[in-house]
Amino acid sequence: MVKIGVLALQGAVSEHIRSIEVCGGEAIIVKSRDDLTLVDGLILPGGESTTIRKLMDRYDMLTPLKEFASAGKPMFGTCAGLILLAQKIVGYDFAHIGVLNATVERNSFGRQVDSFETNLEVKDIATDFPAVFIRAPHIVEVESDVEILATHENKIVMVRQGHLLGCSFHPELTVDHRITAYFTEMVKESLAKKAAV
Ligand code: GLN
Repeated sequence: MVKIGVLALQGAVSEHIRSIEVCGGEAIIVKSRDDLTLVDGLILPGGESTTIRKLMDRYDMLTPLKEFASAGKPMFGTCAGLILLAQKIVGYDFAHIGVLNATVERNSFGRQVDSFETNLEVKDIATDFPAVFIRAPHIVEVESDVEILATHENKIVMVRQGHLLGCSFHPELTVDHRITAYFTEMVKESLAKKAAV
């Protein structure tokens, strides 16, 4: 069974765990660098990116996370997790993990009270995905190796760059598990590729 971790420093962890299990994966809570060595792919959940970053520094996880990405292991950032993956953040002169060739802007759909749900067309995954946006970022700009999978109101809200997947919304908060299933397939494919080498 494919082992998928959820970074559990802060944020929406348990819903991702359940979604991974529904998709037939073994879900592992990742709180340390040792935990990270146990998983084949990793979900970075929503929450508060600045808080998650502080905890990454406290638990000495930033470098291991960068190494996880550069080893080609699949990572999926949702909402705050997308911000953590991005190479550039509007208004900040530093990034966090910084491996996704995209610029993101935080809180681009209004404040907490403006959280909303909408049906999204997501390339290769769904024509009507129920996407929950909570103080969500959007993707302002991507480099040519990044594929745009979904937009909302002309803003990019989901992308893929090889083994990296990112979205502005919370795919784990509804009973529709198609996006988690897609990521699970990415992890399986990356294992199969590794086995073939
Ligand atoms: N606004 C949050 C941030 O900037 C992200 C919100 C979320 O993950 N739901 O980190």
